[in-house]
Amino acid sequence: MLTTLIYRSQLDSSCHSDALNVLVDHARLRNAALGITGIMLYNGQDILQVLEGSEEQVEALFQRIVMDKRHAFVVELMRDYGPRRRFENVGMLLFDLQISSPKTVLQSVLRYSKLESYIVSDDRVFKFIQSFITRENNARQHRDKPAEAWTLSCEPHPLGEPLGLIAGQSCQFALQPIVEPYEGKISSFEMLIRGNDGGNPEQFFANLDSAKIYEVDLQTKAYAFALAKSLKIGSHKIAVNLLPMSLVNVPGAVEFLVEQIQLSGLQPEQVIIEVTENEMISGFNTFNKAIKALRGTGIGFAIDDFGSGYAGLSLLTKFQPDKIKIDREIISNVHLSGPKQAIVKSIVSCCTDLEITLVAEGIEKLEEWRWLESAGIRRFQGFLFARPQLNGVGDIHWPHMLR
Ligand code: C2E
Ligand code: MN
Ligand code: MN
Repeated sequence: MLTTLIYRSQLDSSCHSDALNVLVDHARLRNAALGITGIMLYNGQDILQVLEGSEEQVEALFQRIVMDKRHAFVVELMRDYGPRRRFENVGMLLFDLQISSPKTVLQSVLRYSKLESYIVSDDRVFKFIQSFITRENNARQHRDKPAEAWTLSCEPHPLGEPLGLIAGQSCQFALQPIVEPYEGKISSFEMLIRGNDGGNPEQFFANLDSAKIYEVDLQTKAYAFALAKSLKIGSHKIAVNLLPMSLVNVPGAVEFLVEQIQLSGLQPEQVIIEVTENEMISGFNTFNKAIKALRGTGIGFAIDDFGSGYAGLSLLTKFQPDKIKIDREIISNVHLSGPKQAIVKSIVSCCTDLEITLVAEGIEKLEEWRWLESAGIRRFQGFLFARPQLNGVGDIHWPHMLR
């Protein structure tokens, strides 16, 4: 199947633009043999390349480019399928924007492509090319020290050691910190439910009588607050997860939460309830009353797994939480994906306008963290910084710049 792939990268600083000509000459020969055509645009720093050919050959070539040390910050912008090549019979053309004016480059790209203008005007491939050519220098893609310039140093957590479980306790909790690496600050601890056998939330809930799920979910929060107290949580914030129906179906649910929070010597303002986006959407109307009651007590509210559902943005037209946690699916390998980057940028812009605090969750790589910081996110949760630890807090790994 004829595939078109566009990526952006930065030419490694050790690689001169003369070397780029050599690179493209080599590429032209090799690509001809693989049946790959396309163009490469270069502006002195950034590269935009369009590759077209069979799906297998394009994918194999792109994987080689990702591994190629001469390309830094390779980001895939687009992958699509179509009936015809845009650059039939041209091999691989190089356009250097340092030598020719944007207008000249644009004209020759169009001349080589030989496509009808009605196809070109709405074509995403040409729109990517046009934006790259006409982009002002000050709007260049973000530059950053590579992830290798950073290292992590392990520090013990600031909390106390837990006491034993409470008699009859039906579950346990694992704590995972949410951190602000630049400030060296812990912004809160999320308390994740575990079975008494250490099993994950899914297993814990699967073992319950389905009629009891909401009630149990609510009641287990008492153990979470008690654990926070025994860990000497002090003025740190804690976040717990809750099915929204636990607040709607269980009579007196909000009062129960407040009572248990106070019994553990905590303040309602210290506690954040996290509800996943999907649950929020499906039950919004019935849930709305419970949210109001919750807000009335001072308890904080966060939308979890934002972006995983089908109506996240329209949800925000009806209700704006204190905090939004961007779903791990979107965060994972965000440094490599143009579409993920565009979505994160739009969430950042939306939450900045609405003064909603953003958390990125599921950070496993320094590269992901670097990109998200550069996009304006300051709070992070993920294995890179700390793993959840049963009945306590594990070591926290803080990033430092290498000298
Ligand atoms: P969540 O609230 O989105 O919690 C984050 C989940 O991602 C946790 O899984 C955590 O262990 C995992 N995680 C954190 N950092 C990373 C990372 O860097 N990489 C990867 N691969 N995973 C990471 P866990 O503990 O299995 O919890 C799964 C879900 O179960 C939670 O997702 C939450 O929606 C739900 N849950 C947890 N506790 C409760 C609870 O008390 N009540 C209810 N109703 N749901 C709960
Ligand atoms: Mn959560
Ligand atoms: Mn989540």
